[in-house]
Amino acid sequence: MSPCCCKKAAGISPRFDELIAAASPDAPFKLGFFGGTFDPLHVGHLALAQAAYEAFNLDGVLLVPTGLPVRKMASFHASAEHRYAMLQAALAEVPHFDASRIEIDREGATYTIDTLRALAETFSKRAALFFICGSDTTNDLPTWKEAGEIAKLVTVLSAQRAGSEQAVLSQEAAEQKTALQQFTILPFEMPPVAVSSSLVRKRIQEGLAVEDLIPKAVEFYIEKHGLYG
Ligand code: ATP
Repeated sequence: MSPCCCKKAAGISPRFDELIAAASPDAPFKLGFFGGTFDPLHVGHLALAQAAYEAFNLDGVLLVPTGLPVRKMASFHASAEHRYAMLQAALAEVPHFDASRIEIDREGATYTIDTLRALAETFSKRAALFFICGSDTTNDLPTWKEAGEIAKLVTVLSAQRAGSEQAVLSQEAAEQKTALQQFTILPFEMPPVAVSSSLVRKRIQEGLAVEDLIPKAVEFYIEKHGLYG
């Protein structure tokens, strides 16, 4: 007997794949793409995703943990599986958010352009892609691999991050301004949340409380698996 050839391909988003398949190019699913190391997920990430979801009337937000983050190799702490599991735990009760394995299941270095191409090919025109990020990331976008191609695939939703300049309003360097002009960037407001994953890791290492900085489910997970200690 020949081996089965009809194994279902791993999905991109357990929650949204079918909804997107049922959408049409005339009324595409408005999908927020939110990539990060999420090492670990914290309340600033959730506030950012929620603010974008509300401000732009998105249909859903996909949180995409990086597998082998090219830019953060040196400061990579929990494994991809742990980071993904923490997202799943935190998002269990949030039906308009989902976590994707698309990057952690890919071998080798992670490049955002490869992920966005996979989304664009899989969903075709049934999903409109909105790239959600803090202003620190927005400023950096022109340096990413195939930035021009990323710019063609997404609309960037850029939130002010505490301690970082809002890219579209405050670039002084003419060069950087030109490089950013290839992107469609929509700035939006969010209440500043002065939290970072580095701060969370540092506080855990020092034995300090982090209960206001991360969702309860993430706190339980970190404790259970002894992460970041
Ligand atoms: P680290 O401290 O390890 O550098 P991080 O907290 O910056 O991590 P990342 O997973 O690298 O978290 O960030 C993913 C995205 O989330 C980036 O676009 C970043 O700008 C945004 N982001 C992270 N924290 C906040 C925050 N507190 N407010 C707004 N945006 C944030």
